[in-house]
Amino acid sequence: ARPVVAIVGRPNVGKSTIFNRIIGDKLAIVEDKPGVTRDRLYGIGEWLTTEFSIIDTGGIEIEGDDQIMRSVRAQAELAIEEADVIVFMVDAKAGVTPADSEVAELLYRAKKPVVVAVNKVDNLQRTDDIYEFYSLGFGEVVGISGSHGTGIGDLLDEVIKHF
Ligand code: GDP
Ligand code: MG
Repeated sequence: ARPVVAIVGRPNVGKSTIFNRIIGDKLAIVEDKPGVTRDRLYGIGEWLTTEFSIIDTGGIEIEGDDQIMRSVRAQAELAIEEADVIVFMVDAKAGVTPADSEVAELLYRAKKPVVVAVNKVDNLQRTDDIYEFYSLGFGEVVGISGSHGTGIGDLLDEVIKHF
């Protein structure tokens, strides 16, 4: 089986944008679990000849769950269960938010490798904005831009080190 990578983070940080850039058009067919809709959220990625499955957790719909943070938490828990490596996505423009800290708390308990992807690093002026995310307490922090497609190779370099 391919190693599994999950993209976790609060809404609007750019998870789906990066997921789509990584998979291209390689969506995977999966069966939904009762109460959880997950089709179109699993894809297949490849980096340096290594294939992996990738999950866009933000699109997972938990039945009857309307509160955003509860939903993010439930998504993160599913991902933690299934993933070999977790990409924790945050937003350089927003900085560290309380919702990011909540997700971080969950991920500490996961005892799985976590790579922090700081998205929306759209220009050189923003490269300094990634440093505050070291305070989340995870080892690797990589700046990326879903808009420009930059940094994704560096991110995947870090991810595949943990396979
Ligand atoms: P998700 O909710 O985490 O899946 O986030 P989306 O992928 O839907 O993106 C949320 C918003 O951020 C959208 O309007 C995207 O166009 C925008 N976005 C995604 N990546 C970037 C980026 O690198 N830079 C900027 N400036 N905006 C981005
Ligand atoms: Mg999304």
